[in-house]
Amino acid sequence: MDRQQDFVLRTLEERDIRFVRLWFTDVLGTLKSVSVAPAELEAAFEEGIGFDGSAIEGFTRVYEADMVAMPDPSTFQVFPFEGAGSGESARMFCDIQMPDGSPSWADPRHVLRRALRKAADKGFTFYTHPEIEFFLLADHPTDGRRPTPVDSGGYFDHTTHATARDFRRQAVLALERIGISVEFSHHETAPGQQEIDLRYADALATADNIMTFRHVIKEVALFQGVSATFMPKPFTDLAGNGMHTHLSLFEGERNAFHDPGDPMTLSKTAKAFIAGMLFHAREYTAVTNQWVNSYKRLFGAPQHNTVNEAPSSICWGHLNRSALVRVPRYGKPHSARVEIRSVDAACNPYLTFAVLLAAGLKGIEEGYELPPGAEDDVWSLSPEERRALGYQDLPHDLSEALGYMEKSELVAETLGEQIFDFFLKNKRAEWDDYRRQVTAYERRRYLPFL
Ligand code: GLU
Ligand code: MG
Ligand code: MG
Repeated sequence: MDRQQDFVLRTLEERDIRFVRLWFTDVLGTLKSVSVAPAELEAAFEEGIGFDGSAIEGFTRVYEADMVAMPDPSTFQVFPFEGAGSGESARMFCDIQMPDGSPSWADPRHVLRRALRKAADKGFTFYTHPEIEFFLLADHPTDGRRPTPVDSGGYFDHTTHATARDFRRQAVLALERIGISVEFSHHETAPGQQEIDLRYADALATADNIMTFRHVIKEVALFQGVSATFMPKPFTDLAGNGMHTHLSLFEGERNAFHDPGDPMTLSKTAKAFIAGMLFHAREYTAVTNQWVNSYKRLFGAPQHNTVNEAPSSICWGHLNRSALVRVPRYGKPHSARVEIRSVDAACNPYLTFAVLLAAGLKGIEEGYELPPGAEDDVWSLSPEERRALGYQDLPHDLSEALGYMEKSELVAETLGEQIFDFFLKNKRAEWDDYRRQVTAYERRRYLPFL
């Protein structure tokens, strides 16, 4: 028994915790949970908890259904929200193993660990800092009706409607209580839309934190009688939910993206990393934007007064918010970073960080040249102007994105064969299901005259 495991067992006893939830994530980014009694945990640390992997999206082929969840004691956290009156609960993330003890190739956490190990072999640690957007809704219709945002506030508004402000306060307090530090929180552009930014941390911790974050936000919302959604684009006429992510590589204590001698104080390493993210953008977009709905957000130019600040073409810019990759202004050398703006709030964070890192590292390995930065507002350029500047479009829909992904060696290698195949198959089915729907839009548009 190691020190961390020992600490977990002691804490459970001292705090009289009755439920320990073991968490893991399926290929599509859904949180899975199994509860164990504290008495079972000592054995769980040794042998793990067996479960039927064929019941989880993407985990096994049926003939190899037995899988084992191994709790990671470094992620142990007492949870103050559930089981009020019946003692506190706690949670730990798990790594998923095959019955023979080898890591499961279908475990998103393992995919990210493998990508991080590749970075570590080159001397890099990968840090991420997500800005997570979501809507707070007064209702939660599941029959396709338009939901009602809880307020009519806008960007940075200090809403007089108490709900959103009080919600953010409660949510931030809850997150801090479970060790997730929040850097900023504010009202976003659209009515009911909120943003909470987590402090930067190594990518595995951030991905765990994002999974925890989504759960906590939904719980706090329910507690307040509202609901929260991370759906990329719930409303045609309002901004979508992005998850802009700031990325940096460290070599030991030193930020490898910083170079005081460069006009933008950005190192060669950072430039090659950006070049890699741009070069492979079309290949990994199906992962960073994995739903049919994700592409309604990546529409680009604001249309008919709709606020839509999501990117749609592949370019980078210094301080340019319309570009796919933005180099933000930063003060201290250690905060040098780049921001990717396509990622949405409903992605699988493990797989997303793995493909972004792999693309950036590829740029470094191969010494990709960074193309000139975009200075214009890319949204206002015509398709011809964008083409003349050499900016390719991001995929326009899930089907196109899958087409690029299918041909990508980089994504196949990063996700591993099993997730790669499962993902493509699952997402093709999603696309086909969508493709055959006759929508209210079509009836409105065609019935009057056809
Ligand atoms: N909501 C916008 C998006 O979908 C981002 C707005 C911003 O924070 O700049 O990406
Ligand atoms: Mg934002
Ligand atoms: Mg941002």
